[in-house]
Amino acid sequence: MSAISPKTLRSLRAAVRRKLLPWFARHARDLPWRAEPRRPYAVWISEIMLQQTRVDTVVPYFQRFLARFPDPAALAAAPLQDVLKRWEGLGYYTRARQIHKTAQTLVRDHGGQLPADPDALAALPGLGPYTVAAVASFAFGHPLAVLDGNVIRVFSRLLALPDDVGLPATKKKLQGLADALLLRDKPAATNEAWMELGALICTPRAPRCPECPLRGVCRAAKSKTPEAFPNKKKKMKVPHKVVGAAVILNAKNQILIAQRNPEKGMLAGLWEFPGGKIAAGETMPECIARELKEEMGLDIEVGAHLVTVHHAYSHFTIELHAHFARIRSGRPRHLECSGHAWTTRDRFDDFPFSKADLEIIRALRALPKPPRLRDHFPAT
Ligand code: SF4
Repeated sequence: MSAISPKTLRSLRAAVRRKLLPWFARHARDLPWRAEPRRPYAVWISEIMLQQTRVDTVVPYFQRFLARFPDPAALAAAPLQDVLKRWEGLGYYTRARQIHKTAQTLVRDHGGQLPADPDALAALPGLGPYTVAAVASFAFGHPLAVLDGNVIRVFSRLLALPDDVGLPATKKKLQGLADALLLRDKPAATNEAWMELGALICTPRAPRCPECPLRGVCRAAKSKTPEAFPNKKKKMKVPHKVVGAAVILNAKNQILIAQRNPEKGMLAGLWEFPGGKIAAGETMPECIARELKEEMGLDIEVGAHLVTVHHAYSHFTIELHAHFARIRSGRPRHLECSGHAWTTRDRFDDFPFSKADLEIIRALRALPKPPRLRDHFPAT
């Protein structure tokens, strides 16, 4: 990225003060984590929830989470399963495990409060530079500029930036621009105004340039092709996985669920309908039977199809085929899982599940009556 001329910088700084901040004062959304006085804990939780997640999705989660865990001490004292349950469906569950750990650090080392010093914030586990800048500026008024996806998009359009914004060097330079444009007497408002402009006006598709307070200084708007920015290298095609899962019924018409290893891997600690990825040449029932043998040491009979769920994770997509099943022989062992439970469709709420497994639960609850072994496997 070529250096930004002092003249451009001056005109952008003037536009921030004269146009952007007054626009923000009129149009800022009334969001629960913006309630004054700002609570550092609420700012922190909201910033973690908002990573990779839309505001509309986050609001109800945030409200339920704060009602259940009103401060770091309550969060630190809660069992991890309870924290995961409140996070259920929000995705990226590492975030939930991390804030639980961080809350315990806050109780142990900081009297149960987030420290106001940015260096002390940065030393906490799980707070990256973005979260540190957000908490430090929104909650404590430190002059630190945030650079998130919204801000990157707005900046790259204002400058009609040809550089690939996926490159660390471009991000570093855009962070420099954010620092240079931060009004030191209004750090929180400047940061939030950029983010709000990106969320409401300078949206990824169809930016609303005629309504934008910065249209007078925007090069992309003048080029008439604002959507051409930011310049991102085409992403590689994400892998697609076909996966099978068993809804195993026992003679009491309970359903078997397994817990993923709480210490490592994706969706760690969540519960699931056991199963796994299909191998080349396998039918879906063969896949599910093999996976149950490997994961829990069970010999099962696979029956009717219940539902197929499509879900996109950040780096791959899945197509999850759930089938009813019954155990022919064996007792559940924890060969490739960390625990198991027999439950019913009314008791699923006692366990945290991933979004894809919640779709299986939804399909089970949509059945006219609870599934029974003898309805699905009449010969047993
Ligand atoms: S004028 Fe258009 S492209 Fe430029 S910042 Fe505003 S909304 Fe974005």
